[in-house]
Amino acid sequence: MTKPIHSNRTKTARQSVGLATRAIHGRHLHAFKGPVSTPIYQTSTYRFENSRDAIRYAQGDPTVFVYTRYHNPSVNEVEDRIALMERGEAAALFSSGMAAVSTAILSLCKAGEEVVSTSALYGGTYRFFRDALPRYGIGVKFVDGRSLEDLTYLITPKTKVVYFETPTNPTLSLVDIEKLVRLTRRAAREFRTTITIVVDNTFATILNQDPFAFGVDVIMESTTKYLGGHADLLGGVLVGSSAFIKNAKGLAKHLGGCADPFAAFLLERSLKTFELRVSRQNENAMSLARALERHPRILRVLYPGLPSHPQHKLAKKQMLGFGGMVTIEVRGGVKSAVKVCDALKVVINAMSLGGVESLVSIPVYSSHVNMSDDELARHGVSPGMIRISVGVEGVHDLIQDFHRALKKI
Ligand code: PLP
Repeated sequence: MTKPIHSNRTKTARQSVGLATRAIHGRHLHAFKGPVSTPIYQTSTYRFENSRDAIRYAQGDPTVFVYTRYHNPSVNEVEDRIALMERGEAAALFSSGMAAVSTAILSLCKAGEEVVSTSALYGGTYRFFRDALPRYGIGVKFVDGRSLEDLTYLITPKTKVVYFETPTNPTLSLVDIEKLVRLTRRAAREFRTTITIVVDNTFATILNQDPFAFGVDVIMESTTKYLGGHADLLGGVLVGSSAFIKNAKGLAKHLGGCADPFAAFLLERSLKTFELRVSRQNENAMSLARALERHPRILRVLYPGLPSHPQHKLAKKQMLGFGGMVTIEVRGGVKSAVKVCDALKVVINAMSLGGVESLVSIPVYSSHVNMSDDELARHGVSPGMIRISVGVEGVHDLIQDFHRALKKI
């Protein structure tokens, strides 16, 4: 039986998000009682009081600040807030979501080992797995997120990471988190190995889905999206155990994808309105999805909150809210999709997602460009699809905008 959306978990997620906007301020600073916003430590390096500091650093004292690629108070502040929000032991901030993904995978796998991933992924992650990892001797196997039983033969003693994304981009299909964790742990026990389960929680965010509650090890998010929320910063974050984060940060020093203090400052500002923005986006997305579902020029509307969504029961079981992403498929294929996107006046035709402004993009021209027909079919992407990132505008303006644009088909 499907469990109702768990109000206690929603409450806990809200409380920890609220706490994170207040509790930590000052820990990395000088505990002074001054500014409400954390100052931007816009510095690449730090003055030593004298060479004893350098010696303490060389001896491994983590409290000595040395160089911003290693640590920065503005960055550390946001890391602690996000760890608190998501109830992980620690977090590491990166220059982009892709820097977070690549650093996580390379910190967990070496040549000869392998990743098993669901195939419906953000296109950039998919191409990194498909094109880059094999060049470093790391194997990648893809599993259809709707046939998770296949994990039982895809996972081998070489598997170090099971990676997935839910809801998926752009089809908004879901992966059963509880089942994926159960099958992975069973295989790991059988092979007496350790497998780290990593989820890309960018689409849902911690307000709408708590993967740690299902036993996932690491949450990855592109902070460029909902956490940033204003289309003005690039970033990524990993949240997990202290040991995992220490390891990932160690590798990040070599790979160099660390966060910039100014981006961290923008992100800290955004966290203050995170809950407000995402709650409004959830409401707007639900209303827009309902309104478009009845439109004669739309073949289908994909939104986990709609009873017509094929995995609506699963959405109710594992999601705390249904998110701000809606995908529609218009009649007439990609030509019609182009006409609609070009005719919108309130909604902006631009890539990316999660910001306060509503955006549309056509997956075959954006996230899923350069994929074969077979790959598109495996990802469930069709040419007439338009992905909508629903913002915080008045929802009637959004509905009217789509109704007007759909007349162009
Ligand atoms: N994960 C998802 C679901 C995304 O949509 C994106 C970017 O669109 C990324 C990861 C990569 O994030 P970034 O663009 O910040 O590198």
